[in-house]
Order: sequence, then C-alpha cells, then structure tokens
Amino acid sequence: TDIADGLSRGVENVTDTLSEAFFEPVIRLGVTGLSRAGKTVFITSLVANLMDRGRMPGLLAAADGRISAAFLQPQPDDTVPRFDYEAHLAALTGEAPRWPESTRAVSELRLSLRVQPTGLLGGLSGPRTVHLDIVDYPGEWLLDLALLDKTYAEWSEDVLQRIGARPQAEAYLAQAKATDTVDKLEEPVAQGLAQGFTEYLQEARLAGFYDCTPGRFLLPGDLAGSPAITFAPLPAPDNPPRKSLWREMERRFEAYKGQVVKPFFRDHFARIDRQVVLVDALGAIHSGPQAVEDMRRAMADILSAFRPGKNAFLSRLLLGQRVEKILFAATKADHLHHSQHARLTGIMNALMREARDRADFAGAETQAMALAALRATVEETIDHDGTPLDCVRGRLLSSGKQAAFYPGDLPEDPARLLGPAREGAETWLDADYEVMSFAPAKLSLKPGEGPPHIRLDRAAQFLIGDKL
Ligand code: GDP
Repeated sequence: TDIADGLSRGVENVTDTLSEAFFEPVIRLGVTGLSRAGKTVFITSLVANLMDRGRMPGLLAAADGRISAAFLQPQPDDTVPRFDYEAHLAALTGEAPRWPESTRAVSELRLSLRVQPTGLLGGLSGPRTVHLDIVDYPGEWLLDLALLDKTYAEWSEDVLQRIGARPQAEAYLAQAKATDTVDKLEEPVAQGLAQGFTEYLQEARLAGFYDCTPGRFLLPGDLAGSPAITFAPLPAPDNPPRKSLWREMERRFEAYKGQVVKPFFRDHFARIDRQVVLVDALGAIHSGPQAVEDMRRAMADILSAFRPGKNAFLSRLLLGQRVEKILFAATKADHLHHSQHARLTGIMNALMREARDRADFAGAETQAMALAALRATVEETIDHDGTPLDCVRGRLLSSGKQAAFYPGDLPEDPARLLGPAREGAETWLDADYEVMSFAPAKLSLKPGEGPPHIRLDRAAQFLIGDKL
C-alpha cells in the first residue's frame, strides 16, 4: 500500500503541476524604482485593494464582478524572502497609521485570484485561478547592468571623471588620491576606500543624484561587509603588480559583476512578464533642474535593461523572451490637485518617449501614468485674495495637524522641464511642496472623498487586466 500511496501521490503531484501549467496562468509582475519611489506602498496597496475589490472600478474584471476571491498563497520560490505584506499593511492601517519600511532587497509575494473567464470559454467553464507573483526589487540593482560591459579600469575612469566636480565627492577623491594603488593590499585600506565611496554615494543620493552605482553599495542586502562590495574606483597605475591593492580591487569588481549582478538578472529579472517602474517625479521636480536631468538619465538607463538587444549578456540570458508590458508611473500624485495630474502624466510620457526613441523596447507595450497607491490627501479649493486656489489637505507627519497646501503648478509643456528649452533652469513645485510630508490616511476615506488611491486600478488593468 505504501507503494500504491506513493504512486497515487506522485500522480497527484504531476496532475497538480500540469493543471497549474495549463489551467492556472502565472503572471510574474516586477515592481521596481529607485529607493523611496514608493514600491512598498504600491505593492501593499495593490494587494489590499485586490483582496477588497470594491475600490477598483478601473480594473475591468473587478468592475464586472468576475473576481470571486483573492487570497495569498505560499510563493513558488523558496529561497527568496517573502514580501512582508502583513507588517506593511499593519503599519498603514494601525491606530496611528505610519509609512512602512522601504524596500531594501528583492522579495516576492503570491496573490491568487479566482476569476470567471469572459468570452466563449467563460460561459462553458467555471472560474479559474490566476496567480500573480509580485517581485519587488530595487531599481538601483538594475542600473548595475551597465557595469557588465566595463572593465574595472574603464569603470573607475568613468566614475572618477563623472564625480570629479561634485562637492559630495571631495572627501573620497582626496582619499583615493592619497592612496598608493600599487602597494600590497591591506584589507583596512580597501575597507576604508569602500566606506569612503559608499559615503559619497549616500550624500550624492541625498543631493538628488541618481547615478549611484554599484547598486549594492546603497542597498547591500545580505552582502554587507563582503569582499564583493569592498572595492572602490581608483585611477589605473602603470603595470600594477600582482597582489597590489589595484589588482585586488579589479578582482573584486569582477566578482561583483559575476557573482552579484549576473545572478540577480538570471534569477529574478529574466523571469519577469510584466513590469512597473515607479518614479518619484514630483520629488525630483521639486529638487530642481539638476535632479530632473539626473532622473531622466537614470530612467533611460533603467529602461535600457528592457531592450536586451543592447547587452550581450542579457540577450543570451533572455533568449528572445521578453517583458510584455512596461508601466512607467509617477507616484505620490496625491500631492497635487487632480487638475495638475494631466501635466504630470504628460511629463512621464515625455520621459518615456525619449527613452523609447533611442531604441524600442523589443516589442513591449508601454504606458505612462500618474498615480498614488495610497491617497494621503483630499482636495480643497480655497479662496486666495479673491482667486480660487486648488489645494490638497492632509495630516502632517511632523505635527499631526491637518492643513491645506498649494504645492505650485507643473509646466503645461514638458519641454520646459525636460527639453533643451529647460536651460532657463526654471524651478517648479517650489511653493509648499517642501513641507508636504503627509501621514498615511486610514485605508478607507469617508464616502464622497473618493477612493483611497489614485489610478491604482488603471495601473492594475494595464498590467494584468488582459489575463483576467
Ligand atoms: P520604496 O523605497 O520604493 O519601497 O518606497 P516606499 O514605498 O517605502 O515609499 C517611500 C515614501 O514615499 C513613503 O514612506 C511615503 O512617505 C511616500 N509615499 C509612497 N507612496 C505614497 C503615496 O501614494 N502617497 C503619498 N502621499 N506618499 C507616498
């Protein structure tokens, strides 16, 4: 009987796997964006709103009442950390709601949906299960793709040249200059340099620079302290001897490429079907023209990962398989009155068009939009010396007080922000934006105050609607 049991269990397993493969489609949805772009809030809110579907009218399957259940299940990958949905939701929905901990590394969550199919099949068959595997990962890690094409010497030269004039880099550049790179490796010297370079990256990031690679220096995950991230850019000496600091740095750079960057692309990136790239465009616009320019470049670099033709390693890895849809979304749109949202979408479209013009996304369908995964504000038009001013009202994180703000307008023509015409270095969103740090609102707003998100349902429709 043991054998018979085993056999029948085996048959069951095979049938399970087969039925999953044939009848239970799996959508792997990648969620990325640079640090603080809003990935954690986006995923938490997307899952919460899919589980409680009354607030997703723009998702057609939900509006049609075809989704009969949505539930979390164990994810398929046993060695990838699970996205901590419950903790993040608890933070957002507690007595005193607060923003959850941000993304620090890759994580995954499986949400399964019971869906009644449409069309011919719909009438004949019962509901089927569609699995949505959400993969959260830092955009910084995607930027590392550019490192693969470079030797340590080339990378060092690029970086040192690029950061040469930045005040944030002064300390590191002095440190690098004072280092004798042909000396025999002393570990504390290597550690000191890596530390110095990491501090530069942190400051550059705060100052609004986005080209902050290697990605693991800012978000090391479980690599903190390992040799693969204990290196830094140094000018190439003539004939560096074996065992010299420079040679060892070179070896570690190669280890970073081979043992950190490539496995990430192979194990996570290569398996994604649909992708959303989140961008804190408002934050960059508020920081000023240099931050916008830098964001524009970082976005083009991130998106270049989705045109594998450009990169030999990726082309080999993907073997023609490709991301089917890419959504490019400006987050935190609840900082603006809806009368400004079309302009924000226009800016995202312009950003995306530019990246797309340089090379197409190998057939991926793309869309740009402005959204807020969690609306922390309500709209209010106040009278300002006789003229109506479109404001948003929210509870400030700092004082806990409710207040209405006018962050300023966005340009009607994106070219004034992004194009060559931006030379005038006009600034935007420089009214109240600085102080607009809102606490998250309770997930349910009062009737009449609208849904608890802005266009999250439209984002879901674009990303997964065709599969439901
Ligand atoms: P991550 O680093 O990409 O995971 O970013 P998070 O999801 O942690 O978001 C970073 C911060 O942006 C949060 O702590 C919030 O302050 C803010 N934020 C994110 N999404 C929203 C949103 O929809 N509305 C508002 N008002 N703030 C948001």
